[in-house]
Amino acid sequence: MESQLIISEYGAGEIHQAYGIDLTDVDLGKVEEVGVGAAIGRVEPGVMTDPHQHDELETFVIVGGTGEVTVDGKTRPVSAGTVIQFEPFETHTLLNTGAADLLFTTFFWRNPDRAARKAPETDRRRFGERPIFAFSTPPTPNGDLHLGHLSGPYLATDVFVRFQRMTGANVWHLAATDDYQSYVADRAHREGREPADLAAHYSAEIRRTLELMDIEIHQFNATSAAEGYPDSVRAFFSRIVASGLVTKQEAPALFDGATGQYLYEPYVSGGCPTCGSAAGGNICEECGEPNFCADLVEPRSSASDATPRLGALTRYTLPLHELRDAVVAHHHLGRSPARMRELADRLFKRERLDMAISHPGEWGVRPAEEDAPDGQIIWDWVDLAYGWLHNIQLLGERLGEDWRADAPQQDWKIVHFLGYDNTFYHSILSPALYKLAYPDWAPDVDYHVNEFYELESAKFSTSRRHAVWGKDVLGPHSVDAVRFHLARTRPEGRRTNFTAEEYDATVRDTLTGTWQRWLNDLGSRVEKGYGGAAPDAGIWTPEHTAFLARLGSRLAELTGSLGHDGFSLNHAAEALHGIVTDVTTFSRRESSTAEIEEWKDETRTAVALELAAARLLAYGAAPVMPRFASRLAAALGEPPPSEWPEIVTLVPAGTRVDLARQVFFGAPAEPAEAPPLLPWLTGLVRESLTLQGDEPIGAKRLVELGMESLQCIVLQYKILEDTGADVKVEDLLGDRTVAELAVFLAEGLAPEAVGALAGVSSA
Ligand SMILES: [Zn+2]
Repeated sequence: MESQLIISEYGAGEIHQAYGIDLTDVDLGKVEEVGVGAAIGRVEPGVMTDPHQHDELETFVIVGGTGEVTVDGKTRPVSAGTVIQFEPFETHTLLNTGAADLLFTTFFWRNPDRAARKAPETDRRRFGERPIFAFSTPPTPNGDLHLGHLSGPYLATDVFVRFQRMTGANVWHLAATDDYQSYVADRAHREGREPADLAAHYSAEIRRTLELMDIEIHQFNATSAAEGYPDSVRAFFSRIVASGLVTKQEAPALFDGATGQYLYEPYVSGGCPTCGSAAGGNICEECGEPNFCADLVEPRSSASDATPRLGALTRYTLPLHELRDAVVAHHHLGRSPARMRELADRLFKRERLDMAISHPGEWGVRPAEEDAPDGQIIWDWVDLAYGWLHNIQLLGERLGEDWRADAPQQDWKIVHFLGYDNTFYHSILSPALYKLAYPDWAPDVDYHVNEFYELESAKFSTSRRHAVWGKDVLGPHSVDAVRFHLARTRPEGRRTNFTAEEYDATVRDTLTGTWQRWLNDLGSRVEKGYGGAAPDAGIWTPEHTAFLARLGSRLAELTGSLGHDGFSLNHAAEALHGIVTDVTTFSRRESSTAEIEEWKDETRTAVALELAAARLLAYGAAPVMPRFASRLAAALGEPPPSEWPEIVTLVPAGTRVDLARQVFFGAPAEPAEAPPLLPWLTGLVRESLTLQGDEPIGAKRLVELGMESLQCIVLQYKILEDTGADVKVEDLLGDRTVAELAVFLAEGLAPEAVGALAGVSSA
């Protein structure tokens, strides 16, 4: 075969556009045969390649020019001769910082093994050592938070941050109230209050509710109370105006038919011009698209019954359609759920999107521009986009970091948690505004979007008071159950529903009836069989090994569902419950040989594995149910879990285990009035079983105390002797606890007989 020299030159082959630059394919032969593809790329001065991730490994060889490569937020200079290797799924960009073209050759190839091993590594990818700012969407302080709010961005951000901190990430939960909303002014006006007072009142209430929910906030900003905030918003707005793209434009606007009041946001409603659903001014919660109020179908004013009048008004206007490419490039950089990208695609199909970004109003920040239209304020959603950066600066001031709102940094990783109805503002409008205010900054944002959570099959509504308020259900004994139930049922990717019955069932059947029952029972067995100390694992059966592997899968499942790529609290809650259902099944099977001497070394392995499952539950639940996790860890002799485990480990042999009497869910049982026959019956039971010590046994069943049929017949005879009542052995060894048996016996006796035995302890 004749040898053939393959020579490729940039521009010799067909030039095509990809990743925002020109590329010429290099012909190395069929990729399926040689295993490697190659291309030569040219980045023009000042141009940056579009950020992207892929499963292939890739090598860049810089052949000419100078620039910067950014991988997962880290930037390094490159020049001719630099060779850069990318792992699968790393986000990378190449920026030409020089005056001449930056030329590079890229080689890429698939290694399925490498990609498959990289994909589940959720801990550091795209995050690395960068500062990570996790934002729960700022609530409007015109009401308190209900379970619908809490189940959405607030719980999610808290769990996210707690998990990330356990993996060692530099992450903070930043929250705010969005005080300058027109909805605040509207509510204040209705109540005859000042907007600032109303905002301050609900801002404080919201913070208290978040505290009750065990949601940790590392930086909080109530925008109308923050010093210097309006000036900073003004400066941000001025940057946007200075870009030249935003100009004052006259456009159709709606006014009240009777009072002439300018109508937008809370002051008007009607049919969504896109989907026809009932919509408010400026946004449709159903399809997620903005409207311009003047285009609402059959608009109605909240100020009067008169038909709104269509007029014209000059406002600062952003031609959003011109920023399409910037917004789409932004959606390539971070985690942008498909439903968000689809909304952007749908929206940018419109020929024009001229958004008014100033409106007539009293409550808000006035532009600094001297020629600004009279009586107008900066639209609050511009304030919102700035507010996140301001909050980062405030956090930086406390931490001694030079993070400035007017100079956002490329290594910042921002993570937003929001409801779908805010998608437009967070993920389309805000990045467009950043592009104008800070053209050199490519904001790297991950978005986590939830849908609506309904209450008894209707939307939660603050105004109609159709809501379960956080404060009504949250307390130290219920908070873990609420967090678990909301994690399990919150609307991820679909609308879901909250019902009181389902919540009660979660507490009764899942948390108390399954989790707590197992943990208490495990504790009793450790006390009875091993003197209250964790046994050392002995001989392992194949089922034992398989169970340990099973726990490992559950850990992997949890790691994947709490990590930032696949974040899903629905999945995390199911994985936690999965640990308990796995272990109760395992425990039931193993119980057959638990009392057989011949198999005692296998039995202690099984118990050690159950304790390992309990430990895994404590660590795995720490982000979702922090109180429960800390208490469970304490019962296993450990401090509150602070590091995410990489593997499942056994509880060290000899560790004191205190699980038998823990009440993890629900209020601790009220010290109910003891049944009058309890002391007498307790005495008989102790005698029959020759029990040592004086530990209360009222809450135990006789079987649990180890009573066997022969001892039971003795007890039956003693009861007959004292009371004349003939109780069946089945009743004694049934489901009743000793205290319940005392009540049961009293029911069958004359009051005098009960009185005679009450207070008697025959021990
Ligand atoms: Zn709509």
